[in-house]
Amino acid sequence: MSPRREMSAEAAPPEPRGQWVPAEWEAAMAVMTRRLGMYVDESQRGTGRVTARRTPAELSDVLSLQRWIREGGMDARSLDDFLGRYLEEGTRLHHPGYLAHQCACPDLPAALGDLVHGVTNNAMSLYEMGAAAATVELAVVDWMVSKVGWPEQSAGGVLVNGGSLANVTSLLAARAWAFPSAWSEGTPSQAVLLAPVSCHVSVKRGAAIIGLGCDAVVPLPCDALGRIIVESVADVVEAQRRRGRKVMAVVANACASATGLYDDLQGVGRVCRELGLWFHVDAAHGGSALLVPALRGRLAGIELADSVVWDAHKMLRTSTLAAAVLVRRKVDLERAFRQEADYLFFEDERGGPDLMMRTVEGAKAQLGLKLFLNLAWRGEAGLGEYVAGRYATAHRLWELLRARPDFETPYEPQSNVVCFRPRDAPHERQQIAMRDWLIADGRFHLASSVVEGTRWLRATVMSPSTEERTLHALLDAVREAARQVRDMG
Ligand SMILES: *Cc1c(COP(=O)(O)O)cnc(C)c1O
Repeated sequence: MSPRREMSAEAAPPEPRGQWVPAEWEAAMAVMTRRLGMYVDESQRGTGRVTARRTPAELSDVLSLQRWIREGGMDARSLDDFLGRYLEEGTRLHHPGYLAHQCACPDLPAALGDLVHGVTNNAMSLYEMGAAAATVELAVVDWMVSKVGWPEQSAGGVLVNGGSLANVTSLLAARAWAFPSAWSEGTPSQAVLLAPVSCHVSVKRGAAIIGLGCDAVVPLPCDALGRIIVESVADVVEAQRRRGRKVMAVVANACASATGLYDDLQGVGRVCRELGLWFHVDAAHGGSALLVPALRGRLAGIELADSVVWDAHKMLRTSTLAAAVLVRRKVDLERAFRQEADYLFFEDERGGPDLMMRTVEGAKAQLGLKLFLNLAWRGEAGLGEYVAGRYATAHRLWELLRARPDFETPYEPQSNVVCFRPRDAPHERQQIAMRDWLIADGRFHLASSVVEGTRWLRATVMSPSTEERTLHALLDAVREAARQVRDMG
């Protein structure tokens, strides 16, 4: 070897390890677009099981997880095989028979937003970590604020990872408002929260997390379907006052998870205004009806709220999670995380607000982008049509059920949630067994709720592919399931 060649070998730059290779990205993306495109197409057409549920032990084998973890070496070609199996073994939210939990059927533009986040990771809780991402979030929050009916100048909010965290965040804002020294001194022991028993589990959890204790959640009297009896609210407040307690906030559902029924926001909101109480509206699921003129009335009075939670990852078709905490006065959210809102923080040279000052989270995902892309692509009207369509299809299911003597329903739906059961299989164990039978059968995935003290099957119409003929097939399948479990009693 000549000295010259030796020298040039030494001078050659090392291969850049860990960098993205454009050709590898392109090959991987080709696999992704083909596989995921096929997956959505098949799912929408109702081919494939709506949900698979092998055990982790079986799945670990099917997916060769241990080998991949031990040996590595996946590339575009083996990704193709892995992804194919992975998608087979999950739950298809685009499937017409997907009628289970309140998870969005993700729309195409939102999925692109997730990809952009995955690539860029602009974790912009500090403005300098992603000016565009932060500005997009501010814009969609302003849009949501305007839909609630508040002025954008004084109202504000933040997007967080889920409705549960959004409820906790709202409770922190309520706490700072009712007990300004709680940030440094802790939650006072006389604090109570009034909520209907039908409220989401995260309200009680939130009460425990912020140091109120879940025993401090005082149930508001409700009708048989779990809706707040407005006339009783002032009495409950007075009874608490006489016991030396102080109401930190009053919570109402829009709509309740188990039933999809809306509380009378106007009624509860007026009482809160009269008594000077913080009014929190949990519109995680049902807030999206604000986009539909014909449905907006269900949320009449929402503008009386001090805080509102509204999930984009339910009816606005983004992936899990993207939840808005909206407050009537911006400053209430800033005070939740500091004893005094420190405006200096916003007046330095960063160029924009640090959203970290409004949320429990440290770094923040680019949650606004996926909602923004859905809005930009489909338009507010397009999203509204989707919501209206799912509510209408659920109502149609209820009409079909009501027309059949062999089914019963506990109430007329106000959203896309419908409860029902076959009359000849009314028992709790039968609802559970029918649901299991349907999941094993593979055409339908239902949930289940307790309403008026007894268990029902619950259908939540989320997928745009669920149509009239799906509903007829569903009733036939449930009849078949009822035959299977009839002897259980
Ligand atoms: C879904 C839901 C929540 C919780 O939202 P996650 O995003 O699942 O944490 C809270 N309240 C209501 C009324 C809901 O429907």
